[in-house]
Amino acid sequence: MKNKFYLTTPIYYAISKPHIGHAFATLYADIIARYQKLQNRKVFFTAGADEHGSIVEKKARQANKNPQEFVDEIALLYLKAWRALEIQYDVFIRTTSKQHKKGVLNFIEQLYRTNDIYPGLYEGLYCINCENFLTEKELVNGLCPDHLKPPQKIKEKNYFFRLQKYLPLIKEKILNQELKIIPKSRRNEILNIIENGIPDFSISREKVKWGIPFPYIDGQTIYVWVEALINYLTALGFPNNKRFKEFWPSDLHIIGADINKFHSIFWPALLLSIGTALPKTIFVHGFFTINGQKMSKTLGNIIDPMTLVSKFGADATRYLLVSQFPASEHGDIKESDFSLKYNTDLANGIGNLLERITTMIIDYKNGFLKKTNFDKNIIDSVQKTEKDYFKHMENYELFYSLQDVFLFIKTLDQYIELQKPWVLNKNQDTRIDKVLATLLWGAEKIISWLEPFIPSKTLIVKNYLFKMKKGKLKLSDGKRVRLNLFPRIKEE
Ligand SMILES: [Zn+2]
Repeated sequence: MKNKFYLTTPIYYAISKPHIGHAFATLYADIIARYQKLQNRKVFFTAGADEHGSIVEKKARQANKNPQEFVDEIALLYLKAWRALEIQYDVFIRTTSKQHKKGVLNFIEQLYRTNDIYPGLYEGLYCINCENFLTEKELVNGLCPDHLKPPQKIKEKNYFFRLQKYLPLIKEKILNQELKIIPKSRRNEILNIIENGIPDFSISREKVKWGIPFPYIDGQTIYVWVEALINYLTALGFPNNKRFKEFWPSDLHIIGADINKFHSIFWPALLLSIGTALPKTIFVHGFFTINGQKMSKTLGNIIDPMTLVSKFGADATRYLLVSQFPASEHGDIKESDFSLKYNTDLANGIGNLLERITTMIIDYKNGFLKKTNFDKNIIDSVQKTEKDYFKHMENYELFYSLQDVFLFIKTLDQYIELQKPWVLNKNQDTRIDKVLATLLWGAEKIISWLEPFIPSKTLIVKNYLFKMKKGKLKLSDGKRVRLNLFPRIKEE
């Protein structure tokens, strides 16, 4: 039986069209999902939209729409963007769907039966934009540090969840790696929060009307964060669908640093309470800035992934987004570097190498190569690259995997310069067979490593090589069908 692999992306607030930050995490997951499939694992991959809560209600009102109509339109924008980026999720889970609501109510019923929830009075500072209560300690100059707006003082009679009861067990599971949080800095952040203590939290809301009704108090809804986390179960048809039994627990949750606490503390506690297995790994990506500044509407520096796709194409956009910096660190996206990077890495790097290799094979051998062994140096280099590449891919370090591939691309470029196949051809030197066969083998390795990153372009190359080996790429006038994978673009 195939090993299963269940991975999820965050579900984003349905309040505006997706930006580059949303695209990054979803794309990151897509590359991992494709890689896992190539390793012959049975993959289930989910994306989705978080469609409840007061901020959604507020945005809908501002747009003169009812909330459902509003989120329907936003969800479509997400679907469109993910299609443009060739993201192949299995389910796009929407929290206003019947499937989700049904699963959430089942979860809350199970929670209610555990004795882990109790009625209490909540007084707190609530940031409407975070949909979350903040502590005095978290405020910066009296403002929410993320939204730079003052929180409201709120007093409500809510149902509370006994989070504190589970903190020691969560700590133990993090320390013994049953619950892996990567990178280490994010794991330490969570251990610190647990060490400093964290209060129980309320799981029902009086102020929020746009949500799933809380079954045990009239007029309250289920806290949007609790409900949103449960999407990782409802996407599988929790509690009774056989898909849930097959794929849960998740092998990987990909999330952003701003929602680490919810995923690494609240979520495991809720799961422990109802006796459901915990996720195996939580991968936390860092924050981005755009040209050194925080992404914001007021600064007007929000990058729409659709703009990048129309300029560079889907595959190049995928490459440009994940090759800028290691995901686990905070990174700065410099849009102005994209064109240069496109030309350097894609047009001159991969594209040029593959064109050179195939051109020589067609021109000198009409696509037919003798069966021969490969050059020892290149065999060694492939083995080293493979070892590094797979290690990085298995640890979700996509940036470093790409670096491994590019190091090998350089090696093949140097091999061509050293061997000078054009001289061997001119002198009718029989060594040319081995050199070209080695190059073709190297090129096919590169394609197999890059397939999860640039799936359409690698498919084009595979088809081209298939035709080449059948001698079908020379036209009747003697000219060659060119492999022009990444045409150069004008730099700004
Ligand atoms: Zn806030």
